[in-house]
This record gives sequence, C-alpha cells and structure tokens, in this order.
Amino acid sequence: MSTEEILDEVAREVSTCTKCDLCKGRTKAVPGEGDLHAKIMFIGEGPGFHEDKQGRPFVGPAGQFLVELLASINLKRSDVFITNVVKCRPPGNRDPLPAETNACVEYLERQIAAINPEVIVTLGRFSMAKFFGGEKISSIHGRARKVDGRTCIAMYHPAAGLHQQSLKDTIRSDFKKIPLIMAEAERRSVEEPQKTETPKLKEEPPEQLALF
Ligand code: URA
Ligand code: SF4
Repeated sequence: MSTEEILDEVAREVSTCTKCDLCKGRTKAVPGEGDLHAKIMFIGEGPGFHEDKQGRPFVGPAGQFLVELLASINLKRSDVFITNVVKCRPPGNRDPLPAETNACVEYLERQIAAINPEVIVTLGRFSMAKFFGGEKISSIHGRARKVDGRTCIAMYHPAAGLHQQSLKDTIRSDFKKIPLIMAEAERRSVEEPQKTETPKLKEEPPEQLALF
C-alpha cells in the first residue's frame, strides 16, 4: 500500500474506532494531517475542544502557537505532519489514561511507518513517554536522541507556554534547534539508509546522540 493509502486507511479506522472509551465522547476523531512525505512529524497529546469539533489537530490556541513556532523556522503546517498520541478527545481535556494510549498507539505506529520521517518531535508528556520512557521533560527538552533508529526531540507542549512566559521562551529557543537537528538527521540518513519498518515504541532505552 502507498503512504497515502495507509494514512487514509488509518483515518477511516479511527473515525469509527471503539477500541477505548474515548470513542464515547468524541464528536470527530482527529487522525492527523500534513505532508504525507514530511521529513518531520509533530506528535501531541490528544484533541482538545476545537480539534474534536473540526476533526483536525492543533487548531485551537495551542495550535496557533505551534504555527508561530513552525514559522520561526520557516515551516508551514503543510510542510510537516501533525498528529496526537490519542485520536479522540479525552473528556474535559483530562490526561489520557494508559489503557487509552495503549489502545491507540498502533495507529500512530502505522502513521510513523508510512510517513517514515527522519525526525519526530514529541509535544508534551504523553507523547514523550512513548519515545523516551520515564525521562523528565525538564532535563531532556530540546535535545535530539536516536530512538529506535530515528531522531527524536522532546519539547514542552505548546499549551504549556501559553500562560507562562518563561516556558514560552524555552519552547521558542528549543524550536530554533530543529533546523540543525534536521540537517544532521538528513546527513545520517544518506549515510545509513532509513529504516521503513514499524518502530517498536518504548522497547529500547534511548541512546544519546553525541552531537547534541
Ligand atoms: N493539544 C494537543 O495535544 N493536540 C491537539 O491536537 C491540540 C491540542
Ligand atoms: Fe480508538 Fe484511539 Fe479513539 Fe480510543 S482514542 S477510540 S483507540 S481512535
């Protein structure tokens, strides 16, 4: 199947998925969107109020900040792929439960395998936990690591920066590191061809990249 066919299939499946209780409260599932061949993928937590209404990721206030952050490194939404760990809105924006992220992660794994991005940026704790295990965001934010053969960067969630200026500045400066990290990931992928199989999330301990 082509990348487009796989992503369409995932989007179709999540729209009627009943694998966890989050299906009960959703208006629309939010599969994710963007460039099917993006070199960089952003993974948030889960849809909020606006995302649930529109069926699109990061379209509320946190999304506006994300668009600003992308613009600061000369990227548009359409240049990247944006999705979430859970595809349906947790009621009242509560944290997703382990049973919910575990039930939903296969969709994310299929999206990653199909898009095969060189770089993955995790936004917030829940997506970070899938790639970095039990690490603390305060110590690893903005750093690139190789996780299961792919360059991953953990970032604070853009929503966290909305009401706290110091965190906003930290997120802005972490984003500025992305172009260099992408260039490095690209250089490596030319040297060692990209893997295309599904990553096995959270199985191997992350390995520190020497450069960052
Ligand atoms: N927060 C997220 O984590 N994801 C969205 O899609 C919107 C807000
Ligand atoms: Fe299915 Fe994921 Fe929605 Fe749960 S959150 S119902 S697993 S698509």
